[in-house]
Amino acid sequence: MQPIVIGAGPAGLSAAYELARQGVTSTVLEGSSERVGGLSQTVQYRGFRFDIGGHRFFSKSAEIENLWTEILGQEMISVPRSSRILYKGRYYDYPLRARNAFVNLGPSETIRCLLSYALARLRPRQPARSFEDWVINQFGERLYSIFFKTYTEKVWGMSCQDISADWAAQRIKGLSLLVAVQNALFPSSGGRTVKTLIDNFRYPRLGPGMMWETLQSRLENLGCAIELDSPVAKIAWSRGGNFTLIAGREPGSRTLQATHVLSSMPLREMVLALEPAAPSRVLEAARSLKYRDFVTAVLIIDQSDLFKDNWIYVHESNVKVARIQNYKNWSLDMVPDARYTGLGLEYFCFQGDGLWNAKDSDLLAMAREELALLRLADPARVVDGTIVRMPKAYPVYDDDYAESVAIIRAFLESELPRLQVIGRNGMHRYNNQDHAMMTGLLAARNVLGGRFNLWQVNGDAEYLEEDRQACDGRAVPRALSRE
Ligand SMILES: Cc1cc2nc3c(=O)[nH]c(=O)nc-3n(C[C@H](O)[C@H](O)[C@H](O)COP(=O)(O)OP(=O)(O)OC[C@H]3O[C@@H](n4cnc5c(N)ncnc54)[C@H](O)[C@@H]3O)c2cc1C
Repeated sequence: MQPIVIGAGPAGLSAAYELARQGVTSTVLEGSSERVGGLSQTVQYRGFRFDIGGHRFFSKSAEIENLWTEILGQEMISVPRSSRILYKGRYYDYPLRARNAFVNLGPSETIRCLLSYALARLRPRQPARSFEDWVINQFGERLYSIFFKTYTEKVWGMSCQDISADWAAQRIKGLSLLVAVQNALFPSSGGRTVKTLIDNFRYPRLGPGMMWETLQSRLENLGCAIELDSPVAKIAWSRGGNFTLIAGREPGSRTLQATHVLSSMPLREMVLALEPAAPSRVLEAARSLKYRDFVTAVLIIDQSDLFKDNWIYVHESNVKVARIQNYKNWSLDMVPDARYTGLGLEYFCFQGDGLWNAKDSDLLAMAREELALLRLADPARVVDGTIVRMPKAYPVYDDDYAESVAIIRAFLESELPRLQVIGRNGMHRYNNQDHAMMTGLLAARNVLGGRFNLWQVNGDAEYLEEDRQACDGRAVPRALSRE
């Protein structure tokens, strides 16, 4: 048996680890030339450590929680969550607290919010077609414009009028801000633990990459090869037969044989790498899958205490930054010298747009200027910085994605049953590390004779038996087609 795992992110490394624990060594091919961890890697710049977005370790799956403990033990620290929303120069506790929200809004704005809420209840928008309609009907126009509009549009790059109302209505669980507003205004309506709103989470002392780098060493000690700088470019297959993979930057630079393939590379690219090519309907489905990309402007500031939060959501519309991470508040060991602070200013974009293509020096200048506009730091104290671009940070759920994924899935299941897709972009599912890991573990068990349907793993990383409906995972907007 010769399994090959594509991608050394949480899904791929978990799959390789499960195989190794059962005595089967695999080769892991990783496209990055620098490090393992994928979206959950930790980047280092002059001793300062950064996440791609802050990565909280929290799972409803005891198996995943135990695995994290097994890998890192005491190196997993417990972090109290502290996050706020910045809007019109004021800080709102997040999760929202009704009193704090209304004190910040002031009496006249509070009255306006309550009146607009009453109006929305009396005269709801009918039919509620868009996300904007739906949220206004629930909370009124004023609360919508303060707490929902700007941030949602920055994240998804779409107007709230173009996002389908189903997203808010059906997937309320994952839409953390909506739940937060609901909990703040109507505390009795909640009750269950909302994953995105938990008060404490775990975090590796040196950032999420520490988890994956430790697992990398452990796998190497168990005899697995983790090959960096090995992007898979071709997957030659025959019905029911073995696979030949071509990996590396130069065409034909490395050829490997496999009996099983566990792929966490983006589903679109995986299908396009198949040889012979998939039928045209499947290729078309693969080409239609879209992604949202992510730029972090890392700024180093020679001040020890800037603000108390782990991160701040920026609802100001005069800046492009959507969220600001303060990594030192996740773990003190994220900075090499406690006199300094490392911030990550997060920008959502599409690969190839103006923001993505901007020169690093221009992005750093913009980030510095925006930090000053938000009065979060004196720009003169910004001593250094760097830019990290992360393509395909978010798989996009548009009108067609579910059908496209279903077409690809049916083709793979009938023609290539020994090629399993795992993880976030691997399955085109907008989920967290625990979900990605669980799909990796189950795929490995399938290689060893199990019969798990990976699509039955839900957003809470629970495996649901066939007779229970697996939910799609976390909420993401669907675009409305313009009439
Ligand atoms: C901004 C942001 C914040 C997040 N916050 C959290 C959080 O707080 N908590 C949480 O649990 N999760 C969080 N996540 C989600 C988490 O990062 C993902 O769920 C997880 O990393 C998915 O793991 P994966 O292995 O499926 O994919 P990835 O992490 O994407 O790994 C896939 C790997 O495959 C490699 N690859 C791609 N193409 C090829 C190829 N052709 N050949 C070989 N290798 C290839 C990539 O380089 C990568 O290393 C966040 C994600 C983002 C973007």
